[in-house]
This record gives sequence, C-alpha cells and structure tokens, in this order.
Amino acid sequence: MTKRWVGVGAPRVALAVPLFDDRARTVANLVDLIAHEGFHMAGFFSGDGLTAGDERKAYYAGLCAQLAVRGEIHMNSLPGAVIEGVDDSMVTASSGAAYRVRREFAKFFEDDKRIVQSEAGAAVIKRCEAVLGLTWNS
Ligand SMILES: [Zn+2]
Repeated sequence: MTKRWVGVGAPRVALAVPLFDDRARTVANLVDLIAHEGFHMAGFFSGDGLTAGDERKAYYAGLCAQLAVRGEIHMNSLPGAVIEGVDDSMVTASSGAAYRVRREFAKFFEDDKRIVQSEAGAAVIKRCEAVLGLTWNS
C-alpha cells in the first residue's frame, strides 16, 4: 500500500488502492476506482442524490474510464464475482450492482480482454454512452 495526497482542497477523500505485481492491473484498478468514486462525488456535489447512489452507473463509469484511458478492459478488472449455480434471486442487495454489471460486460469478452478499436469495443462504447448519458470523444 502506498499513500498519496492530491491537494484539491476540502472536503478530503481518502482512497485505498491495492498494488498488484502486475503494474498494468494496478493502473487499471486506480483508473476504475477514481472514476467510480468520482461519479459518486459528482452526483453528491450536484445535489443529485439518486445519481450519487447509483452503483450500476458508478461501475459503468469505472469500466468505461478504463476503456477511455487505457484502451482496454481486462476480465480481471470486472466488478463482482461469478458464482456458479446462483440465479438473480440469490444475489444480495450489496453485491447486486457489481454482479449485474459484470454480467452485462462479460458478454463482450471473446478472450481475456477487449480493445477499444475492436468491434466489441465499439459496442461497449455505445453501451457506456447509453447508460451514462454521455458522448464518447476519441
Ligand atoms: Zn460505488
């Protein structure tokens, strides 16, 4: 664990980021975390509590930021966990959003990663635009 302070004034936000042996995975996780938590903060500071608390959109913000910044999303960057033999009724409320987003993204993977220039990458971008209500500039 490494501690860094980015002085952007009050209020202060502390984020804990695991350091993996795989540097690319660490960077992907960092990009994802900042986008995810930044989405919550932007919703909070704009006074939109409904958006601030939308976990599904926050997970999308993280994954879409990975695609925008790094040009790819690795399977090991998806939120939630695949649990064999578990249907939707058995997913807890706290894990529901992560599990749902994982399932929504998993269908775009043909191997172990998806690149922005690929056909599936273009489909992911369309999905990011639809869910987050934004236009992708590349
Ligand atoms: Zn969240």
